[in-house]
Amino acid sequence: MLVDSHCHLDCLKLDRHGGSLNAALDAARARGVGHFLCISIELEKFDQIRAIAEAHDDVYATVGVHPCHTHSHQPTVDELLALAQHPKVIGIGETGLDYFHDVSTREAQQALFSTHIEVAKRTGKPLIIHTRNSRDDVLAQMRHEGAERAVMHCFTEDWATAKAALDLGYYISISGIVTFPKALELKDVAKRIPLDRLLIETDAPYLAPAPNRGKPNEPAFLADTAAYIAALRGLSLDALAEATTRNYQAAFRLDTLPIRALAS
Ligand SMILES: [Zn+2]
Ligand SMILES: [Zn+2]
Repeated sequence: MLVDSHCHLDCLKLDRHGGSLNAALDAARARGVGHFLCISIELEKFDQIRAIAEAHDDVYATVGVHPCHTHSHQPTVDELLALAQHPKVIGIGETGLDYFHDVSTREAQQALFSTHIEVAKRTGKPLIIHTRNSRDDVLAQMRHEGAERAVMHCFTEDWATAKAALDLGYYISISGIVTFPKALELKDVAKRIPLDRLLIETDAPYLAPAPNRGKPNEPAFLADTAAYIAALRGLSLDALAEATTRNYQAAFRLDTLPIRALAS
């Protein structure tokens, strides 16, 4: 079984599935994806994400405000703590720093990031970390503020950054970008991450992997990224699926994983 550790189910383009999210999830389930972590990017849409998680046994959620959303409601620690109490909310984010999309000041992003780090520390739930042109500042702030548990999502940084994150005890999640021919450095990183720290994700609807590059991404395509990484590492797909699913459970402290029985 595969776990999509990062997808935006509230943003999927569902034309291929007759407008039905459940049909899109079924397409993923049919390819072995048995669990979905739906990631929050702004609180204005959190009700929708929570409703999706409540409607599907195999969908869990996170709560947080993306660093590019400093124009949306900026939560206090107490507000995020309250929303994080929901039993299906298992992570805090996505959060981090994005210096590429120049939507707000670095100070505003760092303050918002601090709020998330504090909530993660108080709840014991891992941070979902987004970096863009900001890797040194992200890790420095996490180190300085004592962030203990984290997933570096859609990782595209170099090996030195991966090593620094691994040394801090964090997990690293690889997306479909690894299938792109020019992503040579990322392929190398995806090979070198210790097998017990590796997660996989789609980041759907963004960045569909080969052979669907350029199309709207969806959780079913996780199977393509998984097969690609398995081949890269000389593993069977089953071995990669087992390891990354176990890692997901460890990262999010899930003793068992609610798995919907796959249609036979
Ligand atoms: Zn992101
Ligand atoms: Zn995302």
